[in-house]
Amino acid sequence: MAPDTIFALASGAGRGAIAVLRMSGPGTQTVLAALAGGVPPARRASLRTLRDTNGDALDRALVLWFPGPGSYTGEDAAELHVHGGPAVIAAVSDAIVTAGGRPAEAGEFTRRAFLNGRMDLLEAEGVNDLVSAETRAQARQALRQMDGELSALHQGWAERLRNLLAHQEALIDFPDEDLPSQVEGMLLAHMLSLRAEIAEHLNDNRRGERLREGLVFAITGTPNVGKSSLMNTLAGRDVAIVSATPGTTRDALEARVVLGGVPVTLVDTAGLRETEDPIEAEGVRRALARAEAADFRVLVEVAGETISGAADLVVANKTDLGGAVPDGALGVSVTTGAGMEDLRARLDAAARALTQAEGPPPLTRARHRAALTEAVAHLDRALEVALPELRGEDLRLAMRALGRVTGAVGVEDLFDVIFRQFCIGK
Ligand code: GDP
Repeated sequence: MAPDTIFALASGAGRGAIAVLRMSGPGTQTVLAALAGGVPPARRASLRTLRDTNGDALDRALVLWFPGPGSYTGEDAAELHVHGGPAVIAAVSDAIVTAGGRPAEAGEFTRRAFLNGRMDLLEAEGVNDLVSAETRAQARQALRQMDGELSALHQGWAERLRNLLAHQEALIDFPDEDLPSQVEGMLLAHMLSLRAEIAEHLNDNRRGERLREGLVFAITGTPNVGKSSLMNTLAGRDVAIVSATPGTTRDALEARVVLGGVPVTLVDTAGLRETEDPIEAEGVRRALARAEAADFRVLVEVAGETISGAADLVVANKTDLGGAVPDGALGVSVTTGAGMEDLRARLDAAARALTQAEGPPPLTRARHRAALTEAVAHLDRALEVALPELRGEDLRLAMRALGRVTGAVGVEDLFDVIFRQFCIGK
């Protein structure tokens, strides 16, 4: 059955100078003929009057025609750049439905692009991440994934696995042939290095996932040291209730900020102290759990008082009162602003260090992590087994796990590789 012809508003909702309606599917030419009086030249912007079935003008619009399979989705596709008012958008949408189109579901264009082989799963996810990116660093990471850098890495591994499997099959199928005995040794060496490479990629401190999802920084410390004040200053607004009465910040309060190009949720914890009050005790419990799970912990103390507790960064606040800053702590005064620039720089650097690094693009989803972990486990098994037949099965499973990352599961091409690389029929 031929797929439907789908359409959707591709630009943001609401009033704008221009709105882009996008469509894809075998009925695209029919829709263009009905609305624009025909199909304009391919991939060129053409000014056309759009009309409904009664011949009434709806808008003058730029029409772009993208014949398949060289389009985003791989199908016949088109874009209508109409005037961005709600009435025009509604009228043109109605006319598209009358001509046979139906509203697209979420992600349906990219899903078709994947199904038609225009991009793999990783690239499709990159498209989604780029649209969702809130910061430059996130956008950069998404763009690399969308452009296929992560895919190339996985394809390289898959290719090597396919080769290993081909050699392994040859060992099984032709045990009596005089295939050099060192083939087995080479095979194991290659398996080991591939395993190490994938494990190294997994051992990335979750930086890609962290950048994609954003970080959590906990601000901890005893009551009245200035946690709420610090958070308000960092967030640039009053998110926490600042009070001279200890224990006023009852619950964890949160603020979203951008540090080092990374979205960071700052969590200001309730004043951590022993308490009889059950509500405050619950606040303390939650704060501790939040701090435990945070990517980075800032412990705030008052300069001149003893520092207690573990943290990634200790801040000695209220230096304006003259207390000494202990070794290893960063002295600041939230009130006067002294040391605050240093503190921001330290937090920026921490956010960057947790999410960004040189080298190959990182994996960005738990899904990738799960599949790669499985691939490593299968490689481990393949390295351990003595019987070549069993090793082949583990290699095949490792390949399947890898294939799930890019969405290209299947080993049909295996025999091609055997015959292409081995001169077996000599
Ligand atoms: P929290 O309980 O740790 O959240 O502390 P708050 O932010 O509520 O601050 C407690 C008190 O310390 C408030 O009266 C603040 O105005 C005051 N405070 C915060 N930072 C400073 C500072 O740098 N210097 C001085 N002198 N007082 C501060």
